[in-house]
Amino acid sequence: MLEQLRKDVWKCNLELTKYKLVVMTSGNVSGRDPETGYVVIKPSGYTYEKLTPEDMVIVDLDGKVIEGHLRPSTDTETHLYVYAHRPDICGMVHTHSTYASTYAVLGEPIPAVLTTIGMIGGEVPLGGFVPIGGKEIGEEIVAKIGDRLAIVMQNHGVFTIGKDAFQATKMAVEVEEIAKITYFASLRGKPIPLSENSLKRMVELYREEYGQVS
Ligand SMILES: [Zn+2]
Repeated sequence: MLEQLRKDVWKCNLELTKYKLVVMTSGNVSGRDPETGYVVIKPSGYTYEKLTPEDMVIVDLDGKVIEGHLRPSTDTETHLYVYAHRPDICGMVHTHSTYASTYAVLGEPIPAVLTTIGMIGGEVPLGGFVPIGGKEIGEEIVAKIGDRLAIVMQNHGVFTIGKDAFQATKMAVEVEEIAKITYFASLRGKPIPLSENSLKRMVELYREEYGQVS
């Protein structure tokens, strides 16, 4: 079932390796089918090279496996909590991508110093430290992400959301690029913050181009 969504989510998972956002088995992409409410997610502890669309696992919002021969990702509960509390989103990505994770380790949001951060909705907020794997991370994401499409979780990594798996994946790639530039700029001096007005205009421009999530 959900053949197209399986393929889409599989493709998005491979994008994580293409853009070097993950190593070994870390990271995952999921997508929700708006009709059934079922979520397609990467299997747990499975290397990306071996991954096929058939390996993707379909679960319901309670975490019950509906279809699939492998166990779902260990982060499944986190994804499901966010889906349950954000009916507007149908895609979610988690990575420990290097540059964005340096902000997580320092306990800092990614500041709005680049125009492209408009596509995230503004500064990338920081979520507090939460033990990994359960719905507690989901609670922290829902509480702190607001109208943004990305969040860095202290001492952990990045979560991105979107209207579908493709948008959430694009955000994961973009947030890492933004973090990389901001990181290097910070080594050379003090990055210039975008004015509130400029940021507002960038956010509006990107929302018109990509469509708003909420
Ligand atoms: Zn993680």
